[in-house]
Amino acid sequence: MTDRAKLTSQDRGYSPERRTEALIEALPYIQQFRGSIVVVKFGGNAMVDLNLSRTFAEDIVLLRSVGLKPVVVHGGGPQIGEMLARLGKTTEFRDGLRVTDAETLDVARMVLVGKVGRDIVGQINTHGAYAVGMSGEDGNLIEAVERHPDLGFVGDVVSVNPGIVERLLAEDLIPVISSIGSDASGQAFNINADTIAGAIAGALGAEKAIYLTDVPGLLLDIDDPTSLIARATIAELDAFVADGTITGGMLPKIGACVEAVRAGAKSAHMLDGRVPHVLLLELFTDAGIGTMITHLPATDLPMRETDTA
Ligand code: ADP
Ligand code: MG
Repeated sequence: MTDRAKLTSQDRGYSPERRTEALIEALPYIQQFRGSIVVVKFGGNAMVDLNLSRTFAEDIVLLRSVGLKPVVVHGGGPQIGEMLARLGKTTEFRDGLRVTDAETLDVARMVLVGKVGRDIVGQINTHGAYAVGMSGEDGNLIEAVERHPDLGFVGDVVSVNPGIVERLLAEDLIPVISSIGSDASGQAFNINADTIAGAIAGALGAEKAIYLTDVPGLLLDIDDPTSLIARATIAELDAFVADGTITGGMLPKIGACVEAVRAGAKSAHMLDGRVPHVLLLELFTDAGIGTMITHLPATDLPMRETDTA
């Protein structure tokens, strides 16, 4: 038993009423989402903070235990950078993308598939035999193409063959996917994990594509954490990209959200991965935090705590 499980309700200071209220609040959401596929992109600080990666694993196992079908996608830019530095290998960035030669690709692939993915699988599987780690190369899941010759082995997604993921889900397993793809010749490519998560969510017709990141969500002013945009349609996002509200790492993330929703995911969400159990808060409570992205204005949905009007 974990130390946390040994805590009694008194230790946590919650009254029995509050504990049952929280469970009952979750009931309609559990009913609604039972059987639904939820693709979760894990990244940012949450991935390198041991406590947050533990609570993330608990959330994923809880999702599966109440009948949802979670799929985890992860990247690991900082971990790749760290390993390259340890090996004394310098790399160049162009437009925010790491120029990836054959050696750098090898390092990226080893770090993502052999270390970061393993760590996530290990965390989830402390709760039972649930997670299966895989590269986007497995079962030709992610078919890739070189983005630009100057960038080396940086890829774009051409198509997704979700069969291997569907088979794991049918067995009640939790796929944990590293952001590598390959082309027909078997050449591997490093691909932005946000993009892969969006493409997989679209191909699976997921209920939700959820992005855990280091900010409260999409912000109108990046320097003002209270300027959260609670909801946006994909048309509004196009305007935010055009007017420069969205920059940097938020660009591929928003692009992936739009792609996922266009391809058939019902909604995409950007959540603050620094908040413990943020997945449970979004899925199973009335709070509705972060940014929610839908095709059309989501007028039929209940109010979100972050709604201003
Ligand atoms: P992740 O590890 O989640 O992929 P990234 O650094 O790639 O993190 O992307 C998130 C970053 O995008 C934020 O930390 C922020 O610096 C940047 N960003 C750019 N524009 C915005 C915006 N409008 N709202 C929020 N974040 C933004
Ligand atoms: Mg990023």
